[in-house]
Amino acid sequence: MKMIDTHHDHFTESLEALKKTGVRITPQRKAVLNYLVESEVHPTADDIFQSLSSDFPNMSVATVYNNLKLFKQTGLVKELTYGDSSSRFDFNSVPHYHIICIECGKITDFQYPALEEVEHLAGLVTDYDVSHHRLEIYGVCPECSGSETSNPNS
Ligand SMILES: [Zn+2]
Ligand SMILES: [Zn+2]
Repeated sequence: MKMIDTHHDHFTESLEALKKTGVRITPQRKAVLNYLVESEVHPTADDIFQSLSSDFPNMSVATVYNNLKLFKQTGLVKELTYGDSSSRFDFNSVPHYHIICIECGKITDFQYPALEEVEHLAGLVTDYDVSHHRLEIYGVCPECSGSETSNPNS
């Protein structure tokens, strides 16, 4: 129940934020937003399109992409670019970090609030007005790191 409530809050709050900007709330726009709030992965525009196209036969990838751009401008989502062609999108709820699989590219969230101290310290020692920081961890995810039955090395 708790998770459903949280999701409901995030979704409702995001819709309200969108309405305040004067944006028209279309069913497609709602669906894209809902997908992002629910998504545990960090989907590309194409992932979202594939998942929603059966419900919205008239929707195009361009529609999805334009909605994502709009959400990004409103601060609802973050665009994650990793040098490849397709950006991934992340619903901007609680601050978190990413660990990225160097084999399959999967991105997993984790939280480590203690790192906010680094911002504070950086500001103190440099006199900068700190806005944000960026940290990414790389590694091999459990699926890629040999939960597979056939180990080529044995
Ligand atoms: Zn992997
Ligand atoms: Zn994330």
